[in-house]
Amino acid sequence: MELAELVARRPFPAAGLLLGLTRRCPLSCAHCSTGSDLFTREEPDGAQLERFVGSFSTENRPDVVMLTGGEPLLLPVLTERLSTLARRAGSRTALLSGMFFARSRSTRSGSAQSGSAQSGSARSGTRRGRRGGAIPPAILRAIRSVDHFSASLDAHHEREVPRADVFRALHRIRDEGVAVSFHLTGTGASDPYLADITRAVEREFDGRVPCLVNEVRPFGRAASWARPARTGPDPAAASPCSMAAWPVVAFDGRVLACCNQDTVDRRPVPAHLDLGHIGVDDWATVRGRALESPVLRMLRTVGPTHLAARYGSGAGTGSYCEGCRALGDDEAAAAGALAVAGGAAGALLDLTAAVRGSREGAQGVVRRHGCAAYAPLVVTGGPPLPETEGRDVR
Ligand code: SF4
Ligand code: SF4
Repeated sequence: MELAELVARRPFPAAGLLLGLTRRCPLSCAHCSTGSDLFTREEPDGAQLERFVGSFSTENRPDVVMLTGGEPLLLPVLTERLSTLARRAGSRTALLSGMFFARSRSTRSGSAQSGSAQSGSARSGTRRGRRGGAIPPAILRAIRSVDHFSASLDAHHEREVPRADVFRALHRIRDEGVAVSFHLTGTGASDPYLADITRAVEREFDGRVPCLVNEVRPFGRAASWARPARTGPDPAAASPCSMAAWPVVAFDGRVLACCNQDTVDRRPVPAHLDLGHIGVDDWATVRGRALESPVLRMLRTVGPTHLAARYGSGAGTGSYCEGCRALGDDEAAAAGALAVAGGAAGALLDLTAAVRGSREGAQGVVRRHGCAAYAPLVVTGGPPLPETEGRDVR
C-alpha cells in the first residue's frame, strides 16, 4: 500500500483507525508532544488490543490501521499479531516509527549531528553502506508484517538518529518489498530544512519514496495525518474538522473520535468524542458510534465553531478545540445537530463532505492539512526537485 492510497482515505469517516500501541519511546525528541520516553508505562492492554482488532470482519472493518506510539516497534511481537489479525479481515496496516533501531554504534556513542550539517555525508555514504546497520530480527519480522512503513524525520529526530542511518534502514526495508515513505516536519514552506531533506530523499531514493510533509504544530504523532482547521473572522462560517474522521485508540484503551493529542490525553473524554473502550466494545460498535453521531457529523461537515454559533447555548468560548470540547455538555448544540444531521439526511451530508474532501486525492488532502508546497511529494514519482540550492516554494 503506497502512501498516497492511505492519505486519500483520510477524509472518509471510520475508513481508518489510529492505534497508539505504547507511549514509550527510546528517543527524546525535543518536540515530542506525546511526552514519550523509555520509562513511561502507559500503554493499552495488549490482549484487549488483539481482541479489538480481532473483532474486525470482512464486512465491517477499517480499510487502514495506523500503528503509532510512542514507538510501536518497542512491541514488535504485538505489532506482528495485530497486523496479521487486521489483514485476515482485509484491513491493511501502516506503521510510523521514530527509527530508534536504525542508530549505528558510532551514533549511539554520541557522534550524532543535526539537520543539513550532515546531509552531505548522508548522500555520499548511505548507498555505499546500505548493507550495514542490521535490523534486529524481531523488529524486521514486525516490519515485514505491515503493508506500509513510514519513517519520521525532522530536525529534532536527526539529533537522535542521523539521516544516514535512517536512509540505510529504509533501503533495507524496501529491499524486503515493503512500501515505505517519510513523514517530514518543518516550520513551513520556506523552512530551509524541508528544502534540504526533501532534496536529499529525492536523490537518495531516485524519487521513488514519497514524503508526507507537515508543518510543526502542537499535536502528537497520532495526529500527523491531519490538523484542525483554523477559524476565520466569521464564527458562523463553516470550518470542518478533519481530525474527527478516524477513531483513535488512546494509551488507556479508550477510543476517541478525535486525534488531537490534547484531547486524546484529557480525562474525562467529552461525551460527544467518546466512542467507547477496547476492553468492552468491538469495532462494529465503535464504527457505528463514529458514523451515526449527529454531533460528529456536524464537526466533520461544518466544524465546532459553526455548530456552537448556530445552535449552541451560547456559553462556548476559547479556541477552536476548546469550543469543541465544551460541546459535550451543550444540550442545545446536540439538539441542533440531531435536527440537521440525524438520520439518512445526516449520513448523506457526511458522505458528501468526505467525497468533496477527497476530490483532489492525496495531494488535495496534503494541500489542505499538511505543507501545501510539498503536496506533490505524497505521490511516488512526483515532479523532480530543482537542482539549485534552497528550493523556491513561495
Ligand atoms: S520518536 Fe516520536 S515518540 Fe519518540 S521521542 Fe521522538 S517524537 Fe516522541
Ligand atoms: S477537539 Fe474537536 S475540533 Fe478539535 S480536533 Fe478534536 S474533534 Fe476536531
